[in-house]
Amino acid sequence: MNSTQIFINGQWVSPANGRVLDMVAPSTGEKIGTIARGTAADIDMAVKAARRAFEGPWGQMAAVERGRLLSRLGQKILENEDELTALEALDTGKALKLARNDIKAVARYFEFYGGAADKLHGETIPFLNGYQVMILREPRGVTAHIIPWNYPAQMFGRTLGPALAAGNAAVLKPAEEACLSCIRLTELAAEVGFPDGAINLVPGLGEEAGAALSSHPDIDLISFTGSPEVGILIQKSAAENHVPCVLELGGKSPQIVFADADHGKAIETIVAALVQNTGQTCSAGSRVLIERSIYDQFMTQLSRRFKNLRAGPHEMDLDCGPVISRVQQERVLGFLERARADNIEIAAQGEVHAASSDGGYFVPPTLFRLVPRDHELAREEVFGPVLAAIPFDDESDAIRLANDTDFGLIAGVWTDSGARQMRMAKAIRAGQVYINGYGAGGGIELPFGGFKKSGHGREKGFEALREFTVAKTVVFNHG
Ligand code: NAP
Ligand code: MG
Repeated sequence: MNSTQIFINGQWVSPANGRVLDMVAPSTGEKIGTIARGTAADIDMAVKAARRAFEGPWGQMAAVERGRLLSRLGQKILENEDELTALEALDTGKALKLARNDIKAVARYFEFYGGAADKLHGETIPFLNGYQVMILREPRGVTAHIIPWNYPAQMFGRTLGPALAAGNAAVLKPAEEACLSCIRLTELAAEVGFPDGAINLVPGLGEEAGAALSSHPDIDLISFTGSPEVGILIQKSAAENHVPCVLELGGKSPQIVFADADHGKAIETIVAALVQNTGQTCSAGSRVLIERSIYDQFMTQLSRRFKNLRAGPHEMDLDCGPVISRVQQERVLGFLERARADNIEIAAQGEVHAASSDGGYFVPPTLFRLVPRDHELAREEVFGPVLAAIPFDDESDAIRLANDTDFGLIAGVWTDSGARQMRMAKAIRAGQVYINGYGAGGGIELPFGGFKKSGHGREKGFEALREFTVAKTVVFNHG
């Protein structure tokens, strides 16, 4: 794998300016390689190649053939699972077992959308006598994909799977902090025989390659996952060119525990839903809301579990790895320091394993008790292994609290009462609600996306195919 090249029109080439960026392993802080630093000139070539592919062989390909290519890529990913797992763990710092899950998930994305490619059909509509109306679902054309560093491989499948299945030609700009798996996955895609220009990959900086891609006048849709701040810039670019965008911008998702819940089962899931990927998950369950009558007892159990959490380098395969970068480490530690200054008590803290390198970007998993409802720990996305516990009085207070952030991505509700399960599911303003469970990261089949500042549009499942297609109404007057 020559990671310093970009992939345009079926060819690996050097970026126009020949420049590179250093890649660093979060577990050690050491340099592990270099990637291409693509710029506007490269993006322009990639968009042109995608347009030619869309108007040429790729655009003409039968749905069943497109589906076969996607399915073959899914198979190829599984054949290379060990290598991809090691690469993803090294590049992101995530524990090996999680990296392996991610690689299985990216294979599943291509299997799922490979199978779906020829099952996406239009409709007919009853209209006036003498008319026949068809709704065709057509690909949008050239799609732009900008993804973050937290799940590079999974994001590759989540965004490209439905776009390609629907027949779009894609240009992907992965995150500069972690994109080695995306480069390798693109190589595998080339090996299974996607036509030239169907998939184009241009690594580089957000302000350079990313901005050039989102503002390119010849793209037809932008799919973006990342921070709300960059989400605004993406929407401005989309507005300039009158193109739609699908945005996933993170969350502050609640896990809500009522007194009648199965506490033992809830605790395991609540902890996993937060520490998975060291808290760097858009759908992390980063607030635990606990009914006041069981608050103390539940916190004692939760604290006991939290104290046993360990963070360490990816190859130790512990509960948490490092966070992605020095900048992210300082950002997360900043939240901890401000909480201390505001006298918010730490209920329990896990440990950074003694064998961890001095150079790695570690943060101890931390549980805060009695976080005030207006504090930043209760409202803002930390994107680190930090859990805020907040008591509530009754069901209506739980609903108010659950909805009391700018975000609305997912939620977990723990209760044995069937009627309450349904009331909570309806009242919570989030794209996914789990009853007696929590689904951070998983569920390729399940539509996923935000309310409020968590974004708009839906990814995963068949819903994503709707986003990457557009309805065309054809009216026949046959008399
Ligand atoms: P980010 O800056 O929003 O990055 C997401 C993607 O957008 C990356 O590929 C990035 O490129 C690109 N980008 C950055 N500036 C751009 C621009 N002006 N135009 C077009 N693309 C641009 O997120 P981040 O800096 O990695 O993380 C910051 C915070 O965002 C995190 O602490 C977390 O709170 C949140 N976040 C959320 C998610 C999520 O899944 N919802 C994921 C990651 C981060 P480069 O990174 O290569 O510059
Ligand atoms: Mg960035």
